Amino acid sequence: MEAFSRLIAAPSVSSIDPLHNQSNREVVEMLANWFSDLGFSCELQQVSSDPDKLNLIACRGEGSGGLVLSGHTDTVPYDEQLWNQDPFKLSEIDNKLYGLGSTDMKSFFPIVLASLQKFDLDKLKHPVFILATCDEESTMAGARALVNSERSFGRHALIGEPTGLQPINMHKGILIETIKLTGQSGHSSNPSLGKNALEGMNCVINGLSAWRDKLQQKQQNPNFKVPFPTMNFASIQGGDNPNRICGDCEMTIDLRLLPGMNKDEYRAGIRHTVMQSVDGRGLTIEFDAGPTAMDAMQTDENAEIVKLAEKLAGEPTGTVAFGTEGPYLNSMGMDTVVMGPGDIDQAHQANEFIVMDRIDPMIDILQKMIKHFCY
Ligand SMILES: [Zn+2]
Repeated sequence: MEAFSRLIAAPSVSSIDPLHNQSNREVVEMLANWFSDLGFSCELQQVSSDPDKLNLIACRGEGSGGLVLSGHTDTVPYDEQLWNQDPFKLSEIDNKLYGLGSTDMKSFFPIVLASLQKFDLDKLKHPVFILATCDEESTMAGARALVNSERSFGRHALIGEPTGLQPINMHKGILIETIKLTGQSGHSSNPSLGKNALEGMNCVINGLSAWRDKLQQKQQNPNFKVPFPTMNFASIQGGDNPNRICGDCEMTIDLRLLPGMNKDEYRAGIRHTVMQSVDGRGLTIEFDAGPTAMDAMQTDENAEIVKLAEKLAGEPTGTVAFGTEGPYLNSMGMDTVVMGPGDIDQAHQANEFIVMDRIDPMIDILQKMIKHFCY
């Protein structure tokens, strides 16, 4: 509980808005100290040009195989005025522990530390790795840096994101695209005096809607609650005065991909459709992929760790509607399952909490996994 309180007390917000973006150094340095005390070799990996954004890579034991326990150290920004307690003070009320990041997902690390207590780590037959990443909530820079390092970690991985202790082997991928059309302003009384970007964007919306409808007929996966890829028209800005032809228009869309759908291929599909939709209108088109895109996650449902997680949790593997670092770990050759003690319903909002009754069962699950894969 002491470790958990200290992690909550160390702010580590990550955000694509520089105003909110913070370092996670304090969190990873604390974790490095605690895991060093257990005999782990610990390394802080800088993930970008910012010296205060760091991953912790910790390892104990040698050999092949082994288990990776992975989580992110950052939190989303917070609305202080909506909190009933200090978001940076772990507060116990009615069998719940409140604090920013309590469920998503700082609680995972003290649970891992507690799970390791009962083992004689000198007798490990296969290694235990701890990965504690930065910037999962903003750019996935931490996970990308792990992939780019081309190192290998254990064969089996668990990410302790909030799933209410249900094992998860699949989630959708995310692709965001901003489309900017530039035409020419002119007096509204005569359309031939300009090139209307807003009318062009209307054609883009129609074109993309038709493309999406076809996509949804072709691509389906019954494991998901929404069993097809979705495309959301998220925001649009353009024009100014009513008496001016709209010269610029910008729109952002969000596409959620099923496992097996390659994000680069579908981004190319979007761009091709946009270009076709405004062909001949004399508009300039610019695309911006933004900082975040993520492949869908799909771990073989027969993977050893998926089967073990199902057995330990007492329920079958499923899907979630949020993204994780799972696809990155899978791309490094691990079989990854997502399973953690928090609930996503309490994440990313004021008065975030974790139900205390989940902590001991999660420790029990981790101890059985460590025993299975590492001894
Ligand atoms: Zn999370």
